[in-house]
Amino acid sequence: MIQPAICYFDNNATTRVAPEVVDAMLPFLREQWGNPSSTYVFGRQVGEQVDLARARVAALINAEPREILFTSCGTESNNSAIHSALATQPEKRHVLTTAVEHSATLKFCDLLQKRGYPVTLLPVAPDGALDLPLLEASIRPDTAIVSVMWANNETGILFPVGAIAAICRRKGVLFHSDAVQTPGKLKIDVRELDVDCLSLSAHKLHAPKGIGLLYVKRRVKYQPYIVGGGQERGRRGGTENVAGIVAFGRAAELAVSGLPDENTRIRALRDRLEEGILGRIPGTSRNGAKEPRLPNTSNVAFDGVEAEGILMLLDQAGICASSGSACTTGSLDPSHVLTAMACSATWARGSIRFSLGLYNTDAEVDYVLQHLPGIIAKLRASSPME
Ligand code: PLP
Repeated sequence: MIQPAICYFDNNATTRVAPEVVDAMLPFLREQWGNPSSTYVFGRQVGEQVDLARARVAALINAEPREILFTSCGTESNNSAIHSALATQPEKRHVLTTAVEHSATLKFCDLLQKRGYPVTLLPVAPDGALDLPLLEASIRPDTAIVSVMWANNETGILFPVGAIAAICRRKGVLFHSDAVQTPGKLKIDVRELDVDCLSLSAHKLHAPKGIGLLYVKRRVKYQPYIVGGGQERGRRGGTENVAGIVAFGRAAELAVSGLPDENTRIRALRDRLEEGILGRIPGTSRNGAKEPRLPNTSNVAFDGVEAEGILMLLDQAGICASSGSACTTGSLDPSHVLTAMACSATWARGSIRFSLGLYNTDAEVDYVLQHLPGIIAKLRASSPME
């Protein structure tokens, strides 16, 4: 079998920028480098392209363009949503979220707690599911916002955001969802979901890093997190990342047209990879429920081995995968997501996430299935964990 140059199975960490997206953004680095806020034509033309991109990302989630606020990343979007809920409702100080959120939410909540804001982290069941009656019971009169991710970046497990939004609506509490892992993988309709705020990040959908968005529903009060110039209709200071915004717009269009592929071809590749691993390698199990789950993600525990060793040998074979989120990779702490799912520390330390994407092929899945059993056998033969 010919070794592919690079077998990239880490699409939840980041994605390759699509060639169509590169083509769309290059003019805004080369020729059309004006400031979109400038009043002369050279600037205004750029501003029109920012507007067009805003309309395109709005269409991806069925929002109105004016409900889209461009940020620098998913992290800023999550921070901003929670910050705004607290700033616009000073009488409410409580934040309700889950123990399995991305650090973009959890670390911000840590900071809030240190500043005296009460934060509740909802637990999850061993299969990763949330207890909705418990969520409802945990909403307090002083809850400013409920922030629950839609798709978990480590396990791909989906939370029922529509049902959570309905609970929040009934209770009169703002609801934010971190939907960073969903575009191109799930149909997103903010009207149907009835969320107040929703975060996305362009680099998860084949656009470059450094650009994200926060959807803020019309009439929901918003207080900026970053203040400065009056950009983004006064909701986020800072000269716009025009090339990134244009790229995001193009990627949003491609994500809509790529949705059927993700749900058929990529899902089939993921299932073949997962079934192949579980079937061929003894002492393995999937972390979390099979469904409802993102179509591209598989998180597998390998008994008696350290993920670090597996990742190193996979890397030597040109295969990119990860343990936990990209931000915590490299640390020896077991994943907070798997720990919250009652995985033992050793089990969590032996878990690997494979996340597929647009550019994965059948041949790459074959390649991983050919190499992985030998890697696990080799590590188990020398494992200090046994
Ligand atoms: N939320 C989730 C679920 C993520 O997976 C990530 C990135 O991995 C983020 C937030 C942070 O996004 P960004 O890297 O754009 O800051």
